[in-house]
Order: sequence, then C-alpha cells, then structure tokens
Amino acid sequence: MRKKIVAGNWKMNLSAEEALTLANELKVKIDHQLDTKDPKIPNGLPQILLFPPNVYLSRVLEVFRNYEGVAVGVQNIHQEEKGAFTGEVSPLMVRSLGGTHTLIGHSERRIHFNEDDELLAKKIALAVKNGLTPVYCCGEMLPDRETGKHFQLVSEQLKKGVFWMDEQEVKNIIIAYEPVWAIGTGQTASPEQAQEMHAYLRELINDHYSKKTAEEMTILYGGSCNAKNAAELFAQKDVDGGLIGGASLKADDFFTIIQSF
Ligand code: PEP
Repeated sequence: MRKKIVAGNWKMNLSAEEALTLANELKVKIDHQLDTKDPKIPNGLPQILLFPPNVYLSRVLEVFRNYEGVAVGVQNIHQEEKGAFTGEVSPLMVRSLGGTHTLIGHSERRIHFNEDDELLAKKIALAVKNGLTPVYCCGEMLPDRETGKHFQLVSEQLKKGVFWMDEQEVKNIIIAYEPVWAIGTGQTASPEQAQEMHAYLRELINDHYSKKTAEEMTILYGGSCNAKNAAELFAQKDVDGGLIGGASLKADDFFTIIQSF
C-alpha cells in the first residue's frame, strides 16, 4: 500500500519560540493519539513531515527524536556538497544533523530564485546521494491552466526533474502536485482537478517506468489545503496526502488535516 503523508512547510515564518511551541503542541497531539489509538484515525497516523526554517532544524529534530512517524527536513538545499557558497546549506549538512527530507522545486523557489528543472535535477541527485528523500514539487501557473497547457507543463517538470533516475531510485522520491494558483491564495483545486492531475502523473510514471512503480509512488496535493477541505481531497483515489503551507502553522488545524484520511 502507498504511504500516506502529511507534510508541513513552515516557509519563512515563526520566531524560534513560536516554532518550538508549534512543534511541542503537535507532539502533545501525536502522543495523545499514540496513547489512545483514537478510532477517529482508523488506520493510525500517516507519516508526518515537517519543514521548518533551516535555523530551527536541530531544535525541531530534538522535539521529535525517537518519533518514527515524524520526520524533519528542509525547504531547500544547495546543489553542491560544500564550498564557497556563502549563506547556502548542503544536503550533507542537513543529513549530518539528522534531517531526512528536503523540498525541491517549490514554486516559490522556482519563481523568486529562478530555479529551473535542470538545476532541480542536480539538487535531487545530490539529495539522494546524501541520503535525503526529496519531495519534488511541480505545478502549473494560472495562465497555463486557462490555456489548457497544464498537463504538458507538469509533464515537462516531471520528465526533466525526475525521469532521468532509474526505477530503483525514483521509488524513493515523493511528488507534490501544487498548482501555483492555489498556493497561499485560498483558492484550492477542486477534488476532481486534483484527482485528474494525480492520475495523469501516475500515468506518466507508468509509461516511463512501470505500473508497479506508478502504484507505489506517493503523490501529495498542495495548495490552500486546510482543515475543512483536506478530507475531500485525501478521499481521491490518487491523492496520498498533502503538502500544507499556511494551515501547518497552527497545531489544531494541522492535526485536523493529519486526521483527514
Ligand atoms: C505550500 O507552500 O506548499 C503550500 C501549499 O502553501 P498553502 O497551503 O499555504 O497554499
């Protein structure tokens, strides 16, 4: 069975104190669930991924030390392992602290930092080499959808970013479909729109690799997913969970999303 995942991208938000409060509030809720096995979550908790700002990585890791179901990672990595790249953080550093995952190609990195698929492919390669699991973000802008180019665009992002990997490697990648027009706008993709694109992504993986790999890979939805709409989105056959921005900054909302399968 495919892994269900709920990931929280805290972006460039929260003071250190606020970040730790959020992490600890979340921990209390997870502990309660683990203790009581609340039947509201019949299949147990999904895998939880947290992406705090880099400066809080070790503190958040500390909160969740020995929590198998909670992994902590970073929102971006540099494409080189080390060297004269002032201000950057490499996957080797993240892994050496105990971080396990990294977002790659979030639309905010693509748009504000001009990251293209070729660069993102290099980042993925270095992440994998250093033992980090990439969460590769793809998704179209509004004009692409309005002109019917969204499938083609997302297909190119996947082919250039990921399809150079061999089948064994690609199985360890998590894909996040995040339509850019839905990120931080409150304008969520409808469950039908999300399902349609996720099914398409799975079809691409099937065509390039195999049915088995397509069935095994986790594909998350991201874009104004919140405590109210998560259940409808996660009920879609090919939606395996969510990458959550704004709603991951409140423990109550984020935990409701975690319970939404
Ligand atoms: C994101 O940043 O990946 C995201 C999906 O943000 P939001 O949930 O706020 O739209």
